[in-house]
Amino acid sequence: MYDLIIVGSGPAGSASALVASKMGLKTLVIERGSEPGAKNVSGAMVRVEDLRVFGAEPPLEREVRRVRLVLGKGEVEINVRPRDRLITTGRLKLDKWMASQAEQAGALVLNKTTALKVEGEKVVTDRGEVYGKSIILAEGANPLVSMDMGLRRDLTPEETVQTVKEVYSLNKDEVNKRLGLSSDLEGISVRYLFQDPVPGAGFLYTYKDSIAFGIGVHMRSLLRHKLRPQDVLEEVKRYLGIPELVKGFSLREYSAKIIPENGYPEWRPCSGNVYLVGDALGLVNPITFNGIGPAVISGALAGESVARDGCEGYERSLLRDPEISQIVKGRSLIRELVKEENLRFYVSSAIDVATSWTGGSISMSGIRENPWKLMKHALLLMEVTA
Ligand SMILES: Cc1cc2nc3c(=O)[nH]c(=O)nc-3n(C[C@H](O)[C@H](O)[C@H](O)COP(=O)(O)OP(=O)(O)OC[C@H]3O[C@@H](n4cnc5c(N)ncnc54)[C@H](O)[C@@H]3O)c2cc1C
Repeated sequence: MYDLIIVGSGPAGSASALVASKMGLKTLVIERGSEPGAKNVSGAMVRVEDLRVFGAEPPLEREVRRVRLVLGKGEVEINVRPRDRLITTGRLKLDKWMASQAEQAGALVLNKTTALKVEGEKVVTDRGEVYGKSIILAEGANPLVSMDMGLRRDLTPEETVQTVKEVYSLNKDEVNKRLGLSSDLEGISVRYLFQDPVPGAGFLYTYKDSIAFGIGVHMRSLLRHKLRPQDVLEEVKRYLGIPELVKGFSLREYSAKIIPENGYPEWRPCSGNVYLVGDALGLVNPITFNGIGPAVISGALAGESVARDGCEGYERSLLRDPEISQIVKGRSLIRELVKEENLRFYVSSAIDVATSWTGGSISMSGIRENPWKLMKHALLLMEVTA
């Protein structure tokens, strides 16, 4: 009998395992992949501070010093403050590093094992049964066990952002040259907002010898316009000149995944001895794609609560955490924003502003036509940032 069984060794599962093991709990982590991160091979951008529970320097691809916002034809560049250290990191390396930290703290990680269901203290896997006094479900964005247990329902198209991502690789020199980077360690992140063929957000990250480009569009828009996500990706890439940027690079990876636009607190974070963390609890920002930080934070809080004050303690600590509460407070704004007509309105307003910053002309027509909408959203924004 284990004190704690964790399903999934992504950032949320490993943070739970690390904290619980350090607090003396006999902990087992079950991972369906051949190794932690195997199902999540590409890279990501993270704030180093969000990973502080691991207490060491995470594996680094590049330090992101500048974030460029591209809105239509206009663009703005923001220098990242040194204290906000943003890095790009390889998911396979990051997930393996996090799991090894948990193992060093005493957790046992069992790969190539899929949890099928949980019944009380019993976890049924494809390799037999194991028993744990508490269970943390860190299954990610497709949480079949959590749904099977009725802890949360499936997402509706209105609550789902569909993402598609490609990773192109060549060599460090070409990545540096094409993105204007002065060293092999320097990175840049580009964020895009686009209107056509449907409104959405995109991102470009630089790794050592590769570049990732991806988009996120609302599932409801895809259904309404009868579009496939890959068609949107191709059109946006053409419009942004991505094929030119990655000419000569080889396509190393192509992946598609959903991001929940809804989540905690509408979904319960725990029930009795079972806890939900990370993407399984919907703790990811569907516009910024920031999910690793909240996964680590919620995982660490759940691990601590299992050892200390149980489900009630976990609910309380989630609400007290500033990062989690920002996601929760931001939901109402995001829900408003991702309505197609609103996103169109904001994207065009943002493009206007960016165009004026970069020397073009600005039209205030959209803003003049929608003063109430603007005021309502400004109030929601104040609530998020307050
Ligand atoms: C295209 C895209 C780009 C993104 N970019 C960023 C970014 O740059 N920065 C950022 O912070 N976030 C980013 N995110 C979000 C981020 O990937 C997630 O929020 C984060 O991975 C959540 O961590 P997690 O541990 O909750 O889940 P996951 O990382 O998904 O881990 C879940 C783990 O559970 C395992 N598992 C699932 N079911 C079972 C089962 N039944 N039995 C055993 N094991 C199981 C899986 O194999 C996996 O290892 C991005 C997301 C997408 C879709």
